[in-house]
Amino acid sequence: MKTSIPMVDPKAWHDSIQGELEQAALDVLRSGRYIMGEQVAAFENEAADYLGVKYALGCANGTDALVLALRAAGIGPGDEVLTTGFTFFATVEAIMQVGATPVLVDIDAETFNLDPKELERAVSPRSKAVLVVHLFGLPVALSRIQQICDQHGLLLLEDCAQSFGARYRGKQTGSFGLLGCFSFFPSKNLGGFGDGGLVTTSDKEVASKIRKLRNHGSSEQYIHDCIGYNSRLDEIQAALLRVKLRHIDRFNQQRVEVSEWYRDILSGTDLITPCEHSANNHVYHQYTVVLPCHRDLIRERLAYHGIASAIYYPRPLHRQQALQTGMASGSRPELPVCEQLAMHCLSLPIFPGMTQQQVELVASALLKAMKI
Ligand SMILES: *Cc1c(COP(=O)(O)O)cnc(C)c1O
Repeated sequence: MKTSIPMVDPKAWHDSIQGELEQAALDVLRSGRYIMGEQVAAFENEAADYLGVKYALGCANGTDALVLALRAAGIGPGDEVLTTGFTFFATVEAIMQVGATPVLVDIDAETFNLDPKELERAVSPRSKAVLVVHLFGLPVALSRIQQICDQHGLLLLEDCAQSFGARYRGKQTGSFGLLGCFSFFPSKNLGGFGDGGLVTTSDKEVASKIRKLRNHGSSEQYIHDCIGYNSRLDEIQAALLRVKLRHIDRFNQQRVEVSEWYRDILSGTDLITPCEHSANNHVYHQYTVVLPCHRDLIRERLAYHGIASAIYYPRPLHRQQALQTGMASGSRPELPVCEQLAMHCLSLPIFPGMTQQQVELVASALLKAMKI
């Protein structure tokens, strides 16, 4: 039989908890309560506990989590928000949605994350906040970045869409900034079964702003204090996420194990394997390598053997048409490291439940495909 290895295999991932998931879904169907009920409240408490924050507030998706967080932080027109040039589009889209100006900063070639030296250079009198992204599940250099924020009076916000469960010096991502934003898109580390998102904070006032904004600017039924959004987490998603939250450390550990199998085979070859820092624990949302050359040909050869691969991300943000107007001072920043990695990165299949044999198949096919 021909092998077929997808980027993510939900069946292999959920196999050990399928019964629990089905029971949780049925319970909600039979409860008659589908929006803002006890499942959402319980999930919010459990997530806050797990993440080490005072408040965790569900919302409709990760993009909304970012928009809600920016609004609650008081960021709007005239404010510059510094962020990475190498992330999913939604990070910057959210900054534009609230009317603020994104300032894209180049990344560190080893970590794919915001480079603190470049960040410091990009600070201006209009800078209001830094929105960091823990890309691929690896926390950014939080202590250095927090220092820069303190020095310049900037708010720190975290896009944790890819880093649920990752810790930096023992503390969860999403507990460092004024606000943290999570996505439960199915492929994320804590993936739901549809869309979902979460905003975290330990600031009481900010939490009450989020609570209002996500529900039409209302804290009392039919009384509206501001213009908000319809951005709520569904009961059924919350119930299913509660099940998966109980197993998240095991699932993330399985991702780490997969990464170790990959590294055993791939290190010492012509490609660059993901970097690890002792202060961080990487939760491997993606396993992304840097190839010396011939990426398209290598992908074709992998595909021929039934092996999926993906490019996150093929075009850096400063080259996106949608952002040509609205970027700081109308100038297109030069982000050479973003450009370089966009041309040479390749993400390989990784998911909880992936077997050592599957990893060996992918890695050996990749090494063979590199021999031109
Ligand atoms: C997935 C993702 C988002 C958006 O989350 P959605 O739930 O899809 O809206 C934002 N930022 C990053 C870095 C992401 O990976």
